[in-house]
Amino acid sequence: MKPRLPEVLRPMGNSSPEEVSRPVLEAIRSVVGPVGAALHEPSFSGEELRYLEECIDSTFVSSVGAFVDRFESDLRNVTGADHVVATTSGTAALQVALRLAGVGLGDEVLVPALTFVATANAVSYLGAVPHFVDCEELTLGLDPIALREHLDNTAEIRDGRCVNRVNGNVIRAMIPVHTFGHPAAIDDLIEVAVDFHMDIVEDAAESLGSTSRGRHTGTIGLAGILSFNGNKIITTGGGGAILTDDPELASKARHLTTTSKIAHSWEYAHDEIGYNYRLPNINAALGCAQLKGLPDLVKRKRLLFKSYTIAFAEVEGVEVVEEPSECSSNYWLQTLRLADSFKVHKDSILSYCHAAGYGLRPAWTPLHWLDPYKDCPRADLPVAENLYRTLINLPSSAHLV
Ligand SMILES: *Cc1c(COP(=O)(O)O)cnc(C)c1O
Repeated sequence: MKPRLPEVLRPMGNSSPEEVSRPVLEAIRSVVGPVGAALHEPSFSGEELRYLEECIDSTFVSSVGAFVDRFESDLRNVTGADHVVATTSGTAALQVALRLAGVGLGDEVLVPALTFVATANAVSYLGAVPHFVDCEELTLGLDPIALREHLDNTAEIRDGRCVNRVNGNVIRAMIPVHTFGHPAAIDDLIEVAVDFHMDIVEDAAESLGSTSRGRHTGTIGLAGILSFNGNKIITTGGGGAILTDDPELASKARHLTTTSKIAHSWEYAHDEIGYNYRLPNINAALGCAQLKGLPDLVKRKRLLFKSYTIAFAEVEGVEVVEEPSECSSNYWLQTLRLADSFKVHKDSILSYCHAAGYGLRPAWTPLHWLDPYKDCPRADLPVAENLYRTLINLPSSAHLV
């Protein structure tokens, strides 16, 4: 079934779609060149082939090997997390992190309505239900004020647990997402989480290299996750990681992601139903090489933001989204924000720029509009819906500057 998308409104004013779209295309061209550009392509640091060769020569290409340990240790250094467990994907990392936060059958987990579908899918895999809450215009992440108000109206604390008064379900956790690399208002969200007795699992899939008041995203809640999918700032082909400062949680994560096998020289003994979610050594080899390039990638993406800001300064009706205050964003995806009067031109701008070879994308369809999630509990979601109508991601590959 088709998602319930907003009606296309009739353009206001007397500017034609082309008159609005042409200056946008010109500004993009002035930054990334005249031949077109994809939304995001990986960059290679130069060591990838050497590490892959070393990995193949070792014959340890699968779920044990030196590169996995090294990748986890490198990620500890980069993020400051005490423990890192590498996984086959960011989604797998999120599923396991949520399970370790106690999320299970019939629980609810607070999820921003504007995020990649994987955030909600990880909740669903555990038999839990995403409960959609609204975002902020400024950070694009969960809005702590709207969240507190929503919980005041719909939830109460019973026996030390946050319970949804409407259906009696326990609201076990919240998942702040650091959208497009920009840190969410994590300190205010922690206060809400403490007051409402729930845990925070940060979805930092997009924000490797981003900090909030000097702390790396994904290291502030109970646990956080990263993704190394092909479109993220660094890639292992496919992969993810769980970050936590809690040693017990980390060892449980390691256990669950390796089929819950009890260490033994020959016996196959498994003490619960685990997963085959450990990152293969060959992917970790790629990750070690990629991670060396991270400081340069972040530097380039921050430069790209500056170039777009200058290029769009004189373009009517649009602005480039800037990192929140007291934060340093990795600017994974550059984002254009349309003024209210320009919302009607979003699809024209997308199709005009696509026709010219530039891979612009809208923000994700809000998850409560998707068929599998349309009946989930939710707050009013005016900002998330407006962000969908006003945001456009621009070509963002680090090699463009
Ligand atoms: C990419 C992404 C994920 C999932 O990561 P995979 O490695 O693709 O499974 C989850 N959440 C967000 C916000 C993402 O962008």
